[in-house]
Amino acid sequence: MRLRRLLLTASLAAGLALPAVGQTKLKVYVSADMEGIAGVVTQDQLGPTGFEYERFRGFMTNEVLAAIEGARAAGATEFLVSDSHGNGENLLIERFPKDVQIVRSWPRPLAMMQGIDGSFDAILFVGYHSSTTNMEGVRAHTMSSATLADVRLNGVSVPEAALNAAIGGQFHVPVALITGDDAIVKEAQGMLGPIEGAVVKWNYGFHSARTMTPEASCDLIREKAKKAIGRLKDMKPYTVSAPVTLDLRFKNYRPAEVLAYLPIVERTDAHAIRFKGKDMVEVIRFMEFVTNYEPSLSP
Ligand SMILES: [Zn+2]
Repeated sequence: MRLRRLLLTASLAAGLALPAVGQTKLKVYVSADMEGIAGVVTQDQLGPTGFEYERFRGFMTNEVLAAIEGARAAGATEFLVSDSHGNGENLLIERFPKDVQIVRSWPRPLAMMQGIDGSFDAILFVGYHSSTTNMEGVRAHTMSSATLADVRLNGVSVPEAALNAAIGGQFHVPVALITGDDAIVKEAQGMLGPIEGAVVKWNYGFHSARTMTPEASCDLIREKAKKAIGRLKDMKPYTVSAPVTLDLRFKNYRPAEVLAYLPIVERTDAHAIRFKGKDMVEVIRFMEFVTNYEPSLSP
């Protein structure tokens, strides 16, 4: 992977055209959420009980397809897409090209980054939203809107974009693009560096925004994805120093109380716990446990 990226970087630096598809592998991981899709403002678009959900599954699919098309135009040759919103069964899989594969449903140990490994060259985040500690952004939350009030890595509050970028960073894979509202594009670029950003709507608050139309957002995402892959040499993997200290703040009291029964968990105040992982894979597996386990799990 490193050699491949060096060759790519060298050819880009020399102003040479990328080799034709099939000659050089350029593998792209796409993590797709839904809150940051154009037009999404409330639960009405975000889940199977919402009256607009079926249409918005199509819009989400279109934005992911636009990102793939743009990346392909810049030389990307392989794609893995993780459906990383709600039930993990949002994307209309029959509408994807035959060479794209899709990660579906939960739980899965690497959460929104399931399937990432060192064979990838770039990560694209589509439909992302700002963090639970951001005062701005449509449907701002981090991993679990119902249960978590803050997620910190080594003392720094992170949006899902930075948490997921740090998982990619452990495998030396950089984030190249984020799409979503103005709040998350600003938040992510502030933390991850000069990645490409496609702002498809401008938030007025948690449940309101001025938005592009679905067609216009796809045009923008296609163009930005192409630019992002073309600028891959500017993108650096986002890494956090190991071991990684994870601080979770719960909206309620009892999760912190009960999790602190475990010797690997420290309760830092009434609503918060701390876990130290040797790396991001341990951290995300712990988070997936915390947000998924209940003794009544069946089957
Ligand atoms: Zn989501």
